Amino acid sequence: MAVLQGLCKNCGSLVMYNSADEMCDCIFCNAVFPIGEVIPVDAELKDIVFPMEKFERKTNTGAKNQYSTMPDRVTPVVERNAKSEALDEGVETKQFEIQAKDVKAPKKVVAIITGAAAVCLLVTVVVSFPLYKKRTEVHSKMEDKMHSIVENIVKIDETKDADGNTPGYSIQGISCQKVSMLTGDEVDEATAELLFNNYCAALKSAGSSADKDDVELKLYSKNGIYTVKSGKAKFSENKVATETSKKK
Ligand SMILES: [Zn+2]
Repeated sequence: MAVLQGLCKNCGSLVMYNSADEMCDCIFCNAVFPIGEVIPVDAELKDIVFPMEKFERKTNTGAKNQYSTMPDRVTPVVERNAKSEALDEGVETKQFEIQAKDVKAPKKVVAIITGAAAVCLLVTVVVSFPLYKKRTEVHSKMEDKMHSIVENIVKIDETKDADGNTPGYSIQGISCQKVSMLTGDEVDEATAELLFNNYCAALKSAGSSADKDDVELKLYSKNGIYTVKSGKAKFSENKVATETSKKK
C-alpha cells in the first residue's frame, strides 16, 4: 500500500490517496470519484477542463479524506488562462495598461508632432487667407467708391483717420453687405433708397458676393435714422436729434 498524489478531477486541487482505496474524496470540493480518475500531478493542465461542480459534503462514502496543503499548482494556471483569454478578446488588464507618465516621448516624436501642428496651422492660413484677402480687397474698394456713392446726394465725412477709421461711414460684414453712413444733412426716404442702390451697384463692381437682399444700409441723418433693406427704406425717429432740434 502506497500513498499517492494526484489532482482532483473536479476542482484540480491536490489530493492524496492510498493505492488500496477504491474511491478518492476531495476535501476541497467534496467530489468523490474512483482513484483511476485522479489526474496525474505532471499532467498538462492547460488541456484539462475542470468542471468545478459543487458537491454537498457526504458522509460514509467509503473514501478517506486525504488531502495535502502543498502549493496550489492549479490556481495560477487558471488565472493565466483567464488572462490570456481576456487578451484574446481584446480586453485590457491592468497589468498591461500603460499610463501617460510611463511614456517619455523621444525628441524625434516631439519634433514630428510639433511639425504636424505647424503644417495644420499653415493649411488653415493658406485656406483662409484668400477669403480674408478678398474681403479686405472688396472693403478697400468700397472705401474708394464711397465718394461716388454719396456724391451730389448727401455730405458725409469720407476721410480716414490715422488709425484707418472712417468716422463718416462704416462698412461691415464678410462681403461688405452692411454699411452705415452719418450725415448732417436732412434726408428723406427716397434719398436713403438712392444711396442704397448706389451702394449695391458699387458692391457688385467691387466683386462682392453679396446679393441685393443681403445688403443693409443705415443712414444716420439730421432728421432721423433710415434703415434700408431690399431697397425699401424705413424711417425710425432719432429721439436725441428730435429733442435737440426742439430745444433750438
Ligand atoms: Zn476537488
